[in-house]
Amino acid sequence: MNIVSTPFRLAEQVVSAISAVVGAGPVTLHEPSFSGNEWLYLKECLDSTFVSSVGKFVDRFEVELAAFTGAKYAVAVVNGTAGLHIALKLAGVKANDEVLMPALTFVATANAVTYCGATPHFVDSEERTLGVDALKLRDYLTSHTEQRAGQCINLDTGRAIRALVPMHTFGHPSDLDGLLAVAQDFNLALVEDAAESLGSYYHGQHAGTFGLMGTLSFNGNKTITTGGGGAILTNNSELARHAKHLTTTAKLPHAWEYRHDEIGYNYRLPNLNAALGCAQLEQLPMMLVAKRALFERYQAAFAPVAGVKLMAEPEQCQSNYWLQTLLLDAEQANQRDSILKVTNDAGFMTRPAWILMHELTPFKDCPRMDLAGAQSLSQRLINIPSSSSLIWQN
Ligand SMILES: *Cc1c(COP(=O)(O)O)cnc(C)c1O
Repeated sequence: MNIVSTPFRLAEQVVSAISAVVGAGPVTLHEPSFSGNEWLYLKECLDSTFVSSVGKFVDRFEVELAAFTGAKYAVAVVNGTAGLHIALKLAGVKANDEVLMPALTFVATANAVTYCGATPHFVDSEERTLGVDALKLRDYLTSHTEQRAGQCINLDTGRAIRALVPMHTFGHPSDLDGLLAVAQDFNLALVEDAAESLGSYYHGQHAGTFGLMGTLSFNGNKTITTGGGGAILTNNSELARHAKHLTTTAKLPHAWEYRHDEIGYNYRLPNLNAALGCAQLEQLPMMLVAKRALFERYQAAFAPVAGVKLMAEPEQCQSNYWLQTLLLDAEQANQRDSILKVTNDAGFMTRPAWILMHELTPFKDCPRMDLAGAQSLSQRLINIPSSSSLIWQN
């Protein structure tokens, strides 16, 4: 066996498998596509002069999002992080509280918790879903918390743990039954960070509609984009009303008077962005079909490659396959960086999972449970080119 070339053999097999599916590089990780009514609706929006904080596209986008996801209400906001901030605030998260969230997530989840004055409390993830490990979390909470006057108190810090924020990683739904049961048994509000999972379903129900509230993102790299944007989903009419109020400067409706009855936020989605969103929503079913087809092509291409597996949707779930993901076998984890280098050098953009939250400077002192699962996953995950347009072009 040639010791020098061995570490690169897997990387070269990965390059061959990717190029068999997407053709010659360069290929980006994820790019938006605007092949429907985007220009038409944007022009209509400009012609109307209602480009900013009011306009018919915002209302229409909210109605259509609710219809698509099956949520009773959708409140459009300026980005997914702002949506999470408001959802957490409305879930009762306040200064000195703790909020349980996966260490394996994008930084926005942790940032939104701190905007409420609260502290993120990092929990472990499981390989099956890439989301929070409900069984391990239950064991941890059983031995590290106590119920006092209906509140879940962290025995190590003395603070109240107010909420649990699962995140549906790369579009794959978390173990929602397990997590809802944990939230119920320990008196925690469940707020779903569904930023990555528009078009994903758990047991036939859309992700982001299980908790008290769920939030979506329409950033440029997400499944559909409004440039920047997000939404809060909920089935609770009072929460929906309050979310709308808080995200629109908490102004009381009046023909001329500017009266604000609490400290609000300028988090409303501009009409211009909502116009783009309405056109993108029309494309969403096609994009989901393309993303699933891309997954199937990758699955065939990677089947003969030993040492790596393509992430498939968890049982009884439908993933939107937002980002296609390779998971290296534990013995191949030390090859991750050579795979990243060789694929990127070949023109195929790939990237590792996020650095775990507790390893980031602003969050290094936050409470956390044992994170062995997340640590292993973060060393073994690689995202590969995932745009729906790759199917339409190849
Ligand atoms: C994209 C994303 C968000 C929200 O991001 P915005 O850029 O603020 O829309 C939140 N959480 C996760 C996990 C995300 O991937």
